[in-house]
Amino acid sequence: MNPVNQIVRATLPIYRKLSTSATTLAAPKAIPTTGACFELSEEQKALQDLARKFTKEEIIPKAAQYDKTGEYPWEIVKKAWSVGLMNGHIPEHCGGNGLGVMESCIICEETAFGCSGIMAAIYITDVAQTPVIIAGNKEQQKKYLGRLIDEPLVAAYGVTEPGAGSDVAGIKTRAEKKGDEWILNGQKMWITNGGVANWYFVLARTNPDPKCPASKAFTGFIVERDWAGVIPGRKEQNMGQRASDTRGITFEDVRIPKENVLIGEGAGFKIAMGAFDKTRPPVGAGATGLAARALHEATKYSLERKTFGVPIAHHQAVAFMLADMAMGVEISRLAWQKAAWLVDHGQKNTVMASVAKCFASEVANKSASDAVQIFGGNGFNTEYPVEKLMRDAKIYQIYEGTSQIQRLIISREILTEAKNSA
Ligand SMILES: Cc1cc2nc3c(=O)[nH]c(=O)nc-3n(C[C@H](O)[C@H](O)[C@H](O)COP(=O)(O)OP(=O)(O)OC[C@H]3O[C@@H](n4cnc5c(N)ncnc54)[C@H](O)[C@@H]3O)c2cc1C
Repeated sequence: MNPVNQIVRATLPIYRKLSTSATTLAAPKAIPTTGACFELSEEQKALQDLARKFTKEEIIPKAAQYDKTGEYPWEIVKKAWSVGLMNGHIPEHCGGNGLGVMESCIICEETAFGCSGIMAAIYITDVAQTPVIIAGNKEQQKKYLGRLIDEPLVAAYGVTEPGAGSDVAGIKTRAEKKGDEWILNGQKMWITNGGVANWYFVLARTNPDPKCPASKAFTGFIVERDWAGVIPGRKEQNMGQRASDTRGITFEDVRIPKENVLIGEGAGFKIAMGAFDKTRPPVGAGATGLAARALHEATKYSLERKTFGVPIAHHQAVAFMLADMAMGVEISRLAWQKAAWLVDHGQKNTVMASVAKCFASEVANKSASDAVQIFGGNGFNTEYPVEKLMRDAKIYQIYEGTSQIQRLIISREILTEAKNSA
């Protein structure tokens, strides 16, 4: 048994249940015949408690330091790995626990409450794993997912390029077949974990014909960091989530064995897009965690800070900002829960995943901004926790598909349904 499961199964009884009643992608949970339920299961509550304790003890005390230095939080990532807060959704045949998107969301909301940059450093490996879980064969899964279970290593998801982010079909990185190998050339940009990953999921164009449809023109590959010609760039100095490692990566004549092609030639676009249904709800959950932290800090401060002889919470203008934040947090949470529930039960969730990700991102930005407002001048200063929240929040509206792209997905679905029912 791999070390993660040894630790998890020995020290955390919840995982014994989780590992036997786990959701797997191949066998979705049966749809309950009873009505709506807003209660987490006992196992999920235990996982939430574990993530909350970890956040309180390991993330919150160190978040400001990692934000300041921009250093990658290896120490925290390794601890998260050892207590079982990473790799939960890796299938059981690779030594994982085969958990669902709901469980990833629970971990993301809790850890982002402590620091969303550290959350990104912990969670992005799950994003990279998702195409391998969706489209990897058993050997690829055993080799690359099993490796992440055996050792505290991380992976990265490489799609975006300097010239194409939202327009994924516009990527220029190309791979050419030569005998039993593929030769990869091109450049990726903004790759989270880019400098620390052991391997990357890479999307490349494999059909040079510009008339070839996106659904057939791209292929997904697993590329190892140590292969010749894989060159990560400098760590980017970003506005927020500064503990997270973001880089460009250049590929120069990288030789990829045919065993590292996911599913088959031409299927990469669908794989990369399909992964979003599973990865957007946890990103929305992370944004919810950040908004919850803004609410927490602003509430505490508004009860301590006095103006005109009373705590500022007694001024209705301030109290109503808190109420708006609370509404946002509650609805964001319901949204990611529904998006996760749908996909874990084998139902299409593309629209709900976009709703959850987009709504929670907007709530996070509004809540962080309002928290700064409630802190007044102190809110603008690095000695207080809320300016970091405002800087960290912005990226939620950009990565994993911008808010405009989420609205595009949602509106396209509404319009298609309307046309079909006309
Ligand atoms: C910190 C960070 C981490 C990231 N991590 C990763 C990662 O790990 N892996 C990865 O592959 N990528 C990653 N990204 C890339 C991220 O997903 C892209 O930045 C994002 O998808 C937007 O692409 P772009 O930057 O090229 O902007 P563009 O696509 O150039 O968009 C610019 C603006 O135009 C708007 N726009 C574009 N097209 C439309 C349209 N059709 N309708 C309306 N508005 C539109 C956008 O919403 C945006 O406001 C990361 C980015 C950052 C900054």
